[in-house]
Amino acid sequence: MDFKLTEEHLLIQEAARDFAQNDLLPGVVERDEEQRFPEAEVKKMGELGFMGMMVAPEYGGSGLDTISYVLVMEELSKIDASASVIVSVNNSLVCWGLETYGTQAQKEKYLHRLASGEIIGAFCLSEPEAGSDATSQKTTALDKGDHYILNGTKNWITNGSSADVYLVIAQTDKEKKHKGINALIVEKGAEGFEIGPKENKLGIRGSDTHSLIFNDVKVPKENRIGEDGFGFKFAMKTLAGGRIGIAAQALGIASGAYELALKYSKERKAFGTEIANHQAIAFKLADMHTQIAAARHLVLKAAWDKDNGHNYDLSGAMAKLYASQVAMDTTVEAVQIHGGNGFVKDYHVERLMRDAKITQIYEGTSEIQKIVISRSILK
Ligand SMILES: Cc1cc2nc3c(=O)[nH]c(=O)nc-3n(C[C@H](O)[C@H](O)[C@H](O)COP(=O)(O)OP(=O)(O)OC[C@H]3O[C@@H](n4cnc5c(N)ncnc54)[C@H](O)[C@@H]3O)c2cc1C
Repeated sequence: MDFKLTEEHLLIQEAARDFAQNDLLPGVVERDEEQRFPEAEVKKMGELGFMGMMVAPEYGGSGLDTISYVLVMEELSKIDASASVIVSVNNSLVCWGLETYGTQAQKEKYLHRLASGEIIGAFCLSEPEAGSDATSQKTTALDKGDHYILNGTKNWITNGSSADVYLVIAQTDKEKKHKGINALIVEKGAEGFEIGPKENKLGIRGSDTHSLIFNDVKVPKENRIGEDGFGFKFAMKTLAGGRIGIAAQALGIASGAYELALKYSKERKAFGTEIANHQAIAFKLADMHTQIAAARHLVLKAAWDKDNGHNYDLSGAMAKLYASQVAMDTTVEAVQIHGGNGFVKDYHVERLMRDAKITQIYEGTSEIQKIVISRSILK
């Protein structure tokens, strides 16, 4: 067993750290306040190869492993979890889904541009009445021979207005239940495809979250991913990998908050000494450090499982469940360590605390992760 990262991993980690410090940090408070999508920053992440990290070079990607991806996700999330969720959706849901299950023609048409960051993608599963219970799809994709007619509403879609390519899950045959669901590629601008208003969110406010409305949208059959009826399996397989990215996001939020709290505790004085010298503060830091280390091991193990062809349903769910709880606990304590300063925007920890919450909700809530974990250990 070797716990050391390779030279290549360390270089990628450093590149992400530098980018986060130099490019994400300067405008992060304003973007959060104004709910502004980090457009220039996403473009630069494309140039750095962060938008298609695991995509094969023949399709314009960086051809890196999942370990590299989670290292980058952690570094970006320490500073800006809005930017990192854009990276996460594009990499683990859209690019991975298309590369793994798409046809050659679909890959050639979309993957190059998605992997280079020229365009970005969105993954559209959730609906007003189908969140955790994703089998209850109300969006329909009726089979009309050489095309589908898509009708319905998707909710909470990350990159909702900024994406150019949308992977949309919809019910074709209700009788067949989840085996009658398909995944379709829909392009922005398709007739009848409308983007709803932007959600005003608690956290990750720089990412744009929208509902999407499909009104008799004609989708050619060549835009279906996989065989007829593969859509639900496609969504579940894709989300299993996506969870590793969100676990890494949670880890990054936690470690970002911890680093700020550690620094502050060595600078701020109370009762004639740095607050780190008060055991109540030192013990908080000890807990944070330990929990973050444990979360990092789970995240890296899940990534390693994926890279080595092992099943990662269980390890990915455990990593997300635990890392997201650590993100919540750590950010709350980081605010506490900052005292009054923790409550204002300039010190960053309040934003990290708000951002942490989403990691317990999207790509499967913590309750759903416990269902995945308990089913896996009980079977
Ligand atoms: C900012 C943001 C971005 C998002 N981005 C995307 C995206 O890009 N694409 C996409 O498709 N979706 C996206 N989502 C949707 C997200 O995945 C769902 O919100 C999430 O899966 C929960 O679904 P829900 O909101 O309908 O909650 P519900 O399913 O209604 O759950 C409500 C509560 O009940 C609990 N619960 C439900 N079922 C069970 C059960 N069987 N046992 C125990 N507890 C249960 C849940 O854990 C939760 O606590 C996003 C959401 C947000 C807020």
